[in-house]
Amino acid sequence: MEAKPELRGLKKEEMVTLVKNWGEPSFRGEQVFHWVQARCQDDFEKMHTLPGTLREQLALKTCIPLIRIERIWQGEDGTQKFLLELSDGEKIESVLLKHPDHYTLCISSQVGCRFKCRFCATGKMGLKRNLTPGEIVGQVHVIYQNTSCSIRNVVFMGMGEPLDNLGAVKKAIDLLGDPKGQNIGQRRITISTCGLIPEINKLAAHELQCVLAISLHAPTDDLRSKLVPVNKKYPLDELLKACRNYFSASGRRISFEYALMDGVNDSPQHAHQLAALLGKFPAHINILPANPIRGRDFRGTGEKKLKRFVGILEASSLPVTVRKARGQEIEAACGQLNPLEEED
Ligand code: SF4
Repeated sequence: MEAKPELRGLKKEEMVTLVKNWGEPSFRGEQVFHWVQARCQDDFEKMHTLPGTLREQLALKTCIPLIRIERIWQGEDGTQKFLLELSDGEKIESVLLKHPDHYTLCISSQVGCRFKCRFCATGKMGLKRNLTPGEIVGQVHVIYQNTSCSIRNVVFMGMGEPLDNLGAVKKAIDLLGDPKGQNIGQRRITISTCGLIPEINKLAAHELQCVLAISLHAPTDDLRSKLVPVNKKYPLDELLKACRNYFSASGRRISFEYALMDGVNDSPQHAHQLAALLGKFPAHINILPANPIRGRDFRGTGEKKLKRFVGILEASSLPVTVRKARGQEIEAACGQLNPLEEED
């Protein structure tokens, strides 16, 4: 039997085609899209502007798979972590970050991840499966429904490597950006990657306007291959070429994420190497002390060494921002998401 279309994953034009095939006028498709994507409604009965016959057809022939909030953790700084159960029982996590005048939602693109970065709790899970476009945008919907917080920015920095699920991520970006839906445009969306070069080039070819954030974490191939194993396949010089390609296509500066691990990647020599690597690049560097994860023995760099590291980059005129860890005490910070470790 053919699977029912998942309404959260249908673009407006697909929704219009769907209902037109049932003999309904186009505007009904746009209404359904608005109910699903803007009002985040998952109960057909509550879509009261639709005729009863159309609501029946939708209930019979389509689906909006349940995404259930299993647990919410509240951080001291207002950060909230959500443990979500998908319709097949798999679990993912999303993190809502509070800023003075807006909210950013950090969403997942996969259940687990296959890239095994050394400082990342998700990488310890391995990859269970990709999320569908509907499950990706569904995180925005259920968290909006639960909190009523207006989400201004979306970052693909939750569980999974977004470029390893590029088709679904691209469609989710289109869905989020639709003015009749959430209207979160590409310039307010960040895609974080460990550095999958062919997919970065595909993003450039699609002429996306999203911020591209590279999980860099080391200034040399030797060290990076230990921390981010995919570097063995996609080394730094080729990665930077792909980044330059993305910059040329999008006009957007590339963000490089660098988590400082005590005694691993935080020496003055590493800082000089990083400055040399990115010196002529249209880059912005985000520095943060690495967050602790269970079962790994590294520690985040302390204040003094961090200042020294940042000072060297600033002396080389590199644009640097020191990021504060958000939600570390509830294991909601970068690299800490792993629903398999939430039982205790
Ligand atoms: S940092 Fe990203 S790519 Fe690396 S293991 Fe974690 S989720 Fe996967």
